[in-house]
Amino acid sequence: MIKDLLNKTKTSISFEVFPPKKEDEFQDVFSKLDALAVLKPDFISCTYGAGGSKSEKTMEIASYIQNKLNIDTIAHMTCVGFKKQDLEKNCHLLEKEKIPYVLALRGDRPLTMTEEQFQSREFFYASDMVHYLKKNTSLQIAGACYPEKHYEADSIESDLEHLKEKIDAGVCFLISQMFFCNDTFYRFLERTIKMGITVPICAGIMPITSAKQLGTSVKLSGASLPKAFTDMVARYGDHPEDMRKAGIAYAAEQIYGLKKHGVDGIHIYTMNRPKAMAELLKQL
Ligand code: FAD
Repeated sequence: MIKDLLNKTKTSISFEVFPPKKEDEFQDVFSKLDALAVLKPDFISCTYGAGGSKSEKTMEIASYIQNKLNIDTIAHMTCVGFKKQDLEKNCHLLEKEKIPYVLALRGDRPLTMTEEQFQSREFFYASDMVHYLKKNTSLQIAGACYPEKHYEADSIESDLEHLKEKIDAGVCFLISQMFFCNDTFYRFLERTIKMGITVPICAGIMPITSAKQLGTSVKLSGASLPKAFTDMVARYGDHPEDMRKAGIAYAAEQIYGLKKHGVDGIHIYTMNRPKAMAELLKQL
């Protein structure tokens, strides 16, 4: 439960899922969610807008997780996707669906949006949305953080300063961007402590089960790839089944190390793949 994460009583294990873009893939998501629920995550978050999905889909999935599966859920919302009046509407829906948690994000400019439209968004930074939510709702708000800095930030220091502002605005826990070297995350944690950031921080882990994933999700994340990781891809990249096993084993080793280190939480980017997640958790 998110309560355990907030009270830092144990290392929580949570999942991220996404609503598929195509309508015919949408029904399949519910059976995947059922299979993920069997793995008993502490919470599941559902993305918004990534890959062009719509907010109704995020709400439908989030409501299913919260009300049918009885698992705490976090609905993602972005400044890019929500004007003030959309946000108000969405907050009413969240209340109706009894979903108390949101991940407030800025979002990135979609290909369908011009730079001018992007620059004229009503909530500019995630912290602007956090201020609004804190003032007008009783939602509990999470925020994103970047162990290797956000790609637009001039330095890790300035990124951390803005992260602190986001927390001061009302964020009560953080979920990190994916990373493939645990030491990078530990260094980031040390920096947050120096900044006076004390909210729980979940470590974002993406199990890489095919070389193709490197060209999409990983590239976009800006995460650096350590030698052990690139060696693994060089060795198994052309052999799908071996690559899948090696990628799951790599993520399992990362999670094992993070748990031993005593991190607050581990948030797994599942890519809606319950079978791979079951194999991963079995290895732990
Ligand atoms: P912000 O916190 O607003 O930061 C963005 C940049 O602005 C940073 O460089 C920061 O240093 C800088 N900044 C912040 N405040 C200020 C200020 N006051 N002055 C100057 N600079 C400032 N995207 C989606 O579209 N949908 C999703 O569902 C989604 N889920 C995600 C989940 C996680 C866990 C993560 C890590 C990312 C997710 N993203 C998602 C991607 C995210 O939207 C992008 O990474 C986006 O570029 C930044 O969002 P943010 O909320 O971190 O932005």
